[in-house]
Amino acid sequence: MTYDANNIFAKILRGEIPCYKVYEDDHTLAFLDIMPRSIGHTLVIPKAPARNVLDIAPEDFAHVARTAHKIAGAAKRAFNADGITIQQFSEQAGGQAVFHLHIHVMPRMLGVALVPPMSNKESPTVLEEHAARLKAALTGT
Ligand code: 5GP
Repeated sequence: MTYDANNIFAKILRGEIPCYKVYEDDHTLAFLDIMPRSIGHTLVIPKAPARNVLDIAPEDFAHVARTAHKIAGAAKRAFNADGITIQQFSEQAGGQAVFHLHIHVMPRMLGVALVPPMSNKESPTVLEEHAARLKAALTGT
């Protein structure tokens, strides 16, 4: 399995299609899932091209894990979440749909189930507001 540079997240990284950016550093980008499974559902990706956990360099995966950890804390504060679910899917058999490695960070409320994957496209207004809340929580404003 080889990396396809035309996957949707590679296009987001190159700025060819827009995203609701939450955080960026030298190695990673975090942005909202446009079909969120929970409030504030965020995707964390490496800037390095990698298909999934089976081909990413360990140090690049460590950068993604560090950013996911940062986002999890901010998401708990931003949405007053009761918990966080983190998921990573590798290859079709593993549940992967977009073939640029990503970690899902999903704020959870007690008793509220995850929405089924890719079942509901959230409105731009809501996504903008949720991205702003996460960015504020990350900077402590
Ligand atoms: P996977 O099953 O590969 O882990 O999940 C891919 C995720 O990407 C899904 O949660 C889906 O909602 C999300 N997604 C698909 N297309 C787009 C897009 O164009 N922009 C954003 N921000 N998320 C997307």
